[in-house]
Amino acid sequence: MSATLTRDCKQAPGVIAPVVDLKRCEGKGDCVEVCPENVFEIRRIDEDDYRKLDFLHRLKQRVHGMKVAYTPNADACRSCGLCVTACPERAIKLARTA
Ligand code: SF4
Repeated sequence: MSATLTRDCKQAPGVIAPVVDLKRCEGKGDCVEVCPENVFEIRRIDEDDYRKLDFLHRLKQRVHGMKVAYTPNADACRSCGLCVTACPERAIKLARTA
């Protein structure tokens, strides 16, 4: 029997990308630590994103320093799932980009 399976079962980049729920994210940065593709950055929440939050989540943002995870390098995601597992707030989901 021939074994043709490959150990490299990563998804091609650009097919799946992480989606961060800003109501849950507290900008702790575990995603930045674990992502092998440098998809994430932690920075101040955009004004538009902040305004979209309801009162309680705005308050939560202020308590946590107004820092959240963004995905400037989302195109590089290989869908390994490490960020989903690492996030202590369960704020990250993977979704198809198209
Ligand atoms: S699934 Fe993997 S490659 Fe994609 S953003 Fe998360 S840690 Fe990075």
